[in-house]
This record gives sequence, C-alpha cells and structure tokens, in this order.
Amino acid sequence: MRMILVGPPGAGKGTQAAALKEKLGVPHISSGDMLREAIEEGTALGKEAAGFMSRGDLVPDETVIGLVCERLLKADCARGFLLDGFPRTRRQAEALDVALEAKGLKIDAVLMIDVPENLLIDRMTGRRLDPKTGRIYHMSFTPPPQDIVPRLVHRPDDTVDAAQVRLGKYRRDTQPIIPYYEEKGLLRRVSGVGEPPAITRAIFAVLEL
Ligand code: AMP
Repeated sequence: MRMILVGPPGAGKGTQAAALKEKLGVPHISSGDMLREAIEEGTALGKEAAGFMSRGDLVPDETVIGLVCERLLKADCARGFLLDGFPRTRRQAEALDVALEAKGLKIDAVLMIDVPENLLIDRMTGRRLDPKTGRIYHMSFTPPPQDIVPRLVHRPDDTVDAAQVRLGKYRRDTQPIIPYYEEKGLLRRVSGVGEPPAITRAIFAVLEL
C-alpha cells in the first residue's frame, strides 16, 4: 500500500504513523525526520535546510522532492510506503505523482487527520521525542516515565512562535493538496481528537484494514 498521511503540525501524524507502519508492514518515510537526520549528520542538504526549519518555514520544494523521491526508489519501498510530512505543497504532490507514474505506480490512499486549530499549539509545544526509542510523548496528555525525562528532546521548532508560523504555512501551502487528492477520490478523513489508541482504531476502520 502506498499511502500519504496529511494533517496540520501537531495532529498526531508521527504517533499514528508508528501504528500504521506496524499494521501495513511498510516503511514510514517522514520528510521531517530525514531533514533532521541530514542536519545532525552535517550534510550540505542539512546545512541548507536548518535555517528554514528553525524558523518554521518550509524547505524549498526542489530540495525536499529530490530527497524524498530518491528514498522511495529504495528496495524497501517496493511493497509500499507510508509518507508523513510529504507532500506539503501542491507542487510536491504533482512531482510525487510524476515520479511514481514513471515507475507505473500510484498512490492508493491519502489519510487526513483533522484537529481544530485551537488544540494544535498546545499539542506542539508540549511534545517531546525520546531519541532512544523514537516515541513521542506529551508532557500533559501522554506523560513520559520520570526516569527518561532527562533524555527527551524538545524540537526547536516546537516553540509557540515557530508553531504559529508552521500553522500559517500549513493553511497557506499544504491545505491546497487536500482538494487535489479529494478530486482523485483518494482522500479519507479521520478526527485526530481523543486518545491515540482510539484514533488508531478509527484510522484502521476508515482504511478498511
Ligand atoms: P515535520 O517533522 O513534518 O513537522 O517537519 C519539520 C520541518 O521540516 C517543517 O516545519 C519544514 O521546515 C521541514 N519539512 C518537512 N517536510 C517538508 C516538506 N515536505 N516540504 C518542505 N519542508 C518540509
């Protein structure tokens, strides 16, 4: 299954991707994770992306399209993939279709996780990543065990200011991909409000998994 997860920053895409990846048995490809890895490794691409990311801006289309489309050609994606955070613009969505069509492939489903805007800032600023397990916690909603708190990472773009910038970009740049996939009959919607396991069940139901 070739699938895309869309939704505003803080909707729970990363959390739900972990459950979906398990269920589908396909790699979880997060453009944000790939960019953060490039920054950590100090590659040229990482250096280019770092400034955009810390401000909450989008990294230029050409850079991200090259990075993700190259990743999708790797052998582990032959049976499908779960894309998270890409495409984020209409141009990226079109480029993805072109890259897949060249291989005789297409997207099977696009899952939209919907969360009202007033909940998103709290969700983003409270979240912490455990670099050891990849698990995402929220200091109020899904608190981590006390003993691992010192090793948790607070993303630099999860501050209130950067979170607001990212929400504005989402509205302006990413929302237009929703009608793009709706017209193709690929869009499935689910509410992202509630406990993560209940949302996972709703996702499996809407995708008939
Ligand atoms: P995420 O982890 O998906 O929230 O992404 C974190 C940041 O990485 C975003 O705020 C952007 O700066 C950058 N980024 C991730 N994916 C993309 C993309 N598809 N297009 C442009 N920028 C991206």
